[in-house]
Amino acid sequence: MPNINHNINSILKETGLYKCTLVAVSKTKPVEMVQEAYDAGQRDFGENKVQELVTKNEVLPKDIRWHMIGHLQRNKVKQIAPFVHLIHSVDSLRLLETINKEGEKNDRKINCLLQVHIAQESTKFGFDEKEIMTILSDGTVKNMPNVQIKGLMGMATNTDDESLVSQEFSSLKILFDKINHSFQLPNLDMTELSMGMSGDYMLALKNGSTMIRVGSSIFGERNYA
Ligand SMILES: *Cc1c(COP(=O)(O)O)cnc(C)c1O
Repeated sequence: MPNINHNINSILKETGLYKCTLVAVSKTKPVEMVQEAYDAGQRDFGENKVQELVTKNEVLPKDIRWHMIGHLQRNKVKQIAPFVHLIHSVDSLRLLETINKEGEKNDRKINCLLQVHIAQESTKFGFDEKEIMTILSDGTVKNMPNVQIKGLMGMATNTDDESLVSQEFSSLKILFDKINHSFQLPNLDMTELSMGMSGDYMLALKNGSTMIRVGSSIFGERNYA
């Protein structure tokens, strides 16, 4: 069994010089382990499946901030719209439109990050820079009052090549700064740059990350049966 309390505290210590939020990625892990992390003081948790997110939200303490970090199907947005704290994985305009609609139904603004495709792997979801600049400049985002764009999310290539990973993180930081300098919209509040996982969070922080999503370094390796 992993020592969850110890793992969280050593990550917080290691990253202590950076101003960042640790999102504990609890996907596939039982509620008992989430509770253990909660008891260690952790409040931000990330899941990648809607059903699991909904189930855990029902049984765990109400002051947990739930982060949706995995690919999100439009027909499932309504299940998390009432309570989700931040959706990291907004990877298409149609999804953003659905989130806006569900935000309106729930009379709330839903916090979103636009997921940007930065890795070399072609299978990863996300916008490219041009698409983001377009929806920010042509009024599309401005006309969605029930979404609040809090920043960007990206995943680097899964590789040992640290210079490639650094370069990918740095390219996302450059885009983040560029958007911040170029646009001022009422529902654009670009404060969060979500990048870095168990294998690369220190590299991500060195390149400007404000939010790291860490699973296996806290809860141990996952078994996908
Ligand atoms: C699973 C997952 C993580 C955490 O991965 P670890 O390597 O276990 O830290 C982070 N981000 C996303 C989008 C994930 O799906």
